[in-house]
Amino acid sequence: MEAEVCIVGAGAAGGIMALELGRLGVSVVVLESGPRHDFAERRQYVRKYLRRENPWQSPLEGQDRHTIGGRVAYGLEGRRARGVGGSTLHWEGYALRFTAGDFRMRSQHGIADDWPITYDDLEPYYARAEAALGVAGASDDSSASPRSSPFPLPAFPFSYSDGFFARACSTLGIGFHHLPQARNSVAYGGRSQCLACSTCHVCPTGAKASTDLTHIPAAEATGKVRVLTEASVLRLEIDRAGAISTAVYAGPDRVERRLTAKIFVLAAGAVENVRLLLLSRSADFPDGLANRSGLVGKLFMSHPSVDAIGRVKDNAYPYRIGFSTAMSRQFAVDGDRSTRGAFLLEFLNSAGPKPGEIAVASRLTGGALRRQVQEEFGRRLGIRIYCEQLPDRANSVSLNPRVRDYFGSAAPHITYRIGPYERSALDEGKKVAARILESVGATYVGATPLSPAAHQIGTHRMGADPRTSVVDLNLRAHDVPNLYLVGSGCFVTATASPPTLTIAALAIRAAEHIAAEMASAKRSG
Ligand SMILES: Cc1cc2nc3c(=O)[nH]c(=O)nc-3n(C[C@H](O)[C@H](O)[C@H](O)COP(=O)(O)OP(=O)(O)OC[C@H]3O[C@@H](n4cnc5c(N)ncnc54)[C@H](O)[C@@H]3O)c2cc1C
Ligand code: SF4
Repeated sequence: MEAEVCIVGAGAAGGIMALELGRLGVSVVVLESGPRHDFAERRQYVRKYLRRENPWQSPLEGQDRHTIGGRVAYGLEGRRARGVGGSTLHWEGYALRFTAGDFRMRSQHGIADDWPITYDDLEPYYARAEAALGVAGASDDSSASPRSSPFPLPAFPFSYSDGFFARACSTLGIGFHHLPQARNSVAYGGRSQCLACSTCHVCPTGAKASTDLTHIPAAEATGKVRVLTEASVLRLEIDRAGAISTAVYAGPDRVERRLTAKIFVLAAGAVENVRLLLLSRSADFPDGLANRSGLVGKLFMSHPSVDAIGRVKDNAYPYRIGFSTAMSRQFAVDGDRSTRGAFLLEFLNSAGPKPGEIAVASRLTGGALRRQVQEEFGRRLGIRIYCEQLPDRANSVSLNPRVRDYFGSAAPHITYRIGPYERSALDEGKKVAARILESVGATYVGATPLSPAAHQIGTHRMGADPRTSVVDLNLRAHDVPNLYLVGSGCFVTATASPPTLTIAALAIRAAEHIAAEMASAKRSG
């Protein structure tokens, strides 16, 4: 098979690039390792999810296999998804822009590195990404950087329990505002309004944006984009000129097939992009494709996170909304980020045990059980703290040749730890959260154990210098002229904000660049 552009992965970045390139008249084949999850099956998927099964894992035995090392366990179960839509099938949908300062850590705080682009460079692409994903929000975050257009959808109203936090933040002088999210507060993009059914990791209505709904059907409708599912790319091969000529892929039958293209885009996520590069070693690239810098797989980051919990006397009525509606970004922009990480506060609408969990833990029966559930349920308020993580060479994605996946390829190995920079951010976040909880009259109960977010960042960073980065500011690999690496692997720093809106904005920008390069190549014959 042949295409002008081959995209590996139909998740956030791959789905968005496919639509942009298709609209710009470029012929694209997308190779997606997972299946096409039929929307009509979503109710069955919700049932599975409620039984604590993960419907988004690979159906192929061992395909998601990976190993973990380092002082903090970073496992990938539940932290990524396979299939058309990728991890946006499973994501929460929080869609924040980074701030202008997030791109300037070295210049402003003397730490980590600056990005090779600025907020202003990305701003128009943020606006396009928000429109495509349908982001609901309000311009009430005083720490946000300037916007050229309003949010496409109105914000979700604050919840009942947000009222407690709003009053406390007002008393303490802490910023409190809506949480922008790619979820329909009103019907939008041919998708339903959110029905507040609270199973957002499997949305049965399509109100939560996922690229299987927002991008792939429109991409295919351009007539330029073809999506092959259950097509796992095993390696990329280069020609004598040092460009990639072929993607070798296989389906469940394990038979190898080949796709040739002019340009290849890896959009398989920050872990699988690295694995593919390392699996594509050759005489020209003995340490892995596009890895002359030695940085492929290095500087892995996430967002270390904990929940601070308080107990209240009156019912806070949690679990009526499956997602959070309010946050504070004040501590993600202020403060001296040279010594401790920035952090976000997410005010939870679902804190504390559910009735069934209270009942099981109580070991009571009859009237005593009923009273216990009535007295205990709804008496918790929670604040989630997400902190910024510094790039650290000890954190990495590598290959584990002793463990093999369904196709016999070496599995990814994640090495992860957090240091004093992150720990002091979490400690400071817990102090702020405890003050807020105490101000609403709650007794501070404590914090949950550390749990890094489902965000994988920084494994093939962008930069101007090929010695200190893997891709350039257009996400083209420094070492291979027809290879692009998209997704949060190309981020220079993690910031405290979730990554996907920035992934989307960068993907639109990279697609424009590829289409312009192809048009220029055609003109020059
Ligand atoms: C539970 C959960 C909650 C989250 N919540 C948020 C949130 O609120 N806000 C936010 O910003 N982010 C959130 N995220 C993260 C967000 O989903 C990711 O940042 C985003 O989807 C990454 O986009 P991507 O295109 O790089 O990778 P993905 O969306 O993961 O897509 C990669 C695709 O590549 C495919 N693939 C992998 N290997 C191969 C191969 N060898 N051959 C072919 N195809 C391959 C995969 O099957 C997948 O479909 C969440 C993630 C999870 C799991
Ligand atoms: S609460 Fe809204 S976004 Fe979440 S699953 Fe229900 S309809 Fe979808």
